[in-house]
Amino acid sequence: MARPAYSLTLDLEGRRVVVVGGGPVAARRAQGLLAAGAAVQVVAPWVCEDVQQLVDDGRVRWEQREYVAGDLLTPEPAWLVQTATGDPAVDAQVAREAAAARIWCVQAGDGRASSAWTPAVARGAAGSPAEGITVAVSAAGDPRRAMAVRDAVSAALDSGTLPVRGTRRTPEPGGSDHVAGRVALVGGGPGAEDLITVRGRALLAAADVVVADRLGPRGLLRDLAAEVEVVDVGKTPGNHPVSQQRINELLVHHARLGRRVVRLKGGDPFVLGRGGEEALYCVRHGVAVEVVPGVTSAVSVPAAAGIPVTHRGITASFVVASAHDGADDVLRAAADAAPDATLVLLMGVTGLERTAKALVAAGRPESTPVALVERGWTADQRTTTTTLGRAAADARAAGVRAPAVVVVGEVVGVRAALGDLAGVASGG
Ligand code: SAH
Repeated sequence: MARPAYSLTLDLEGRRVVVVGGGPVAARRAQGLLAAGAAVQVVAPWVCEDVQQLVDDGRVRWEQREYVAGDLLTPEPAWLVQTATGDPAVDAQVAREAAAARIWCVQAGDGRASSAWTPAVARGAAGSPAEGITVAVSAAGDPRRAMAVRDAVSAALDSGTLPVRGTRRTPEPGGSDHVAGRVALVGGGPGAEDLITVRGRALLAAADVVVADRLGPRGLLRDLAAEVEVVDVGKTPGNHPVSQQRINELLVHHARLGRRVVRLKGGDPFVLGRGGEEALYCVRHGVAVEVVPGVTSAVSVPAAAGIPVTHRGITASFVVASAHDGADDVLRAAADAAPDATLVLLMGVTGLERTAKALVAAGRPESTPVALVERGWTADQRTTTTTLGRAAADARAAGVRAPAVVVVGEVVGVRAALGDLAGVASGG
């Protein structure tokens, strides 16, 4: 069995590299070499359009003739040579002369005869948490296989499923050792681990500190590296929640220490989640902040129970209101909405009796269908369907508890035909 090759990364900045051949393969290789800063010289009697463009732009020097013995050594020895002439005899001649001069030679036409190979390369995108990462893949002379793996690695680098978190920091440009931290307000979605956005997931994978809520995809916290600091600010029974002021301070404090902070929130950060306040606090304190939208429970939890918040022939609008501070907010939202608009109430379990009564008093029929969807997108999702008139009694009888989304309106009826629609995450 062949021994494994030795993998190496070359610094080609300003070094002479000869490309023999002028076709599309030579063009691609020349572009890669130029991107690494090499001083590229092309030797070929003719060149394709792409190489011609590089010549016209003054980026490569072109010797317009056949390759001749000695080309690798004059005017000075090359560090590396790439052959892609399409003529096996010429490629072999170049390779022989390279070997005699101890110059590594990549042969495009015949991998087995090469002394060096270019791997398929995946790089973390600029501006993404994976920036600065290079993964080189080779597959024993099977470039398509290497490219397939490279593409998969590339996708994984972008998706945040790889541990791309940096452990050595690059100081700020300008010479000071200060490293700027930043805060990302990440909407985690309603709870299922695969309902966070790709950007949210990638930022989470690169975070130094994660400030997490009780709701949202808490399962993702398990995958974080041991050194990542997780600050749990969610309410748990018998455990007081951390105050909003304290959360704001925590975000700014960690960012000022140069850390990448992810504020992982349930649903969407800017829907009844106080994300706006957190963003304002960061801005006022000079801390860089970004928001990553999330799948809000207001729409996705009804969907998981087979309830579309709008439906042709039933209603063309919906309103979302918090029922946290009594019925007034709900009543105002309902009064301003179309009479057939779906009402979606968050934080509505505790005050359900009061809210339902108030809506009936304001003119919504007692027979209006209501759905109470608990723990959407988790294995114990449960839906109780009732009416405005009976909602409080039915919720009590069923033992409905937060977190739940309350849906009021005729769209609830669609559930009868659809049933639960959440994928594998939900247990119905
Ligand atoms: N920013 C969040 C809402 C935060 S308010 C979002 O966009 O989804 C918290 C309320 O959201 C809960 O009281 C409950 O009404 C609702 N909620 C969030 N996740 C839920 C889930 N998985 N199942 C049911 N209700 C949920």
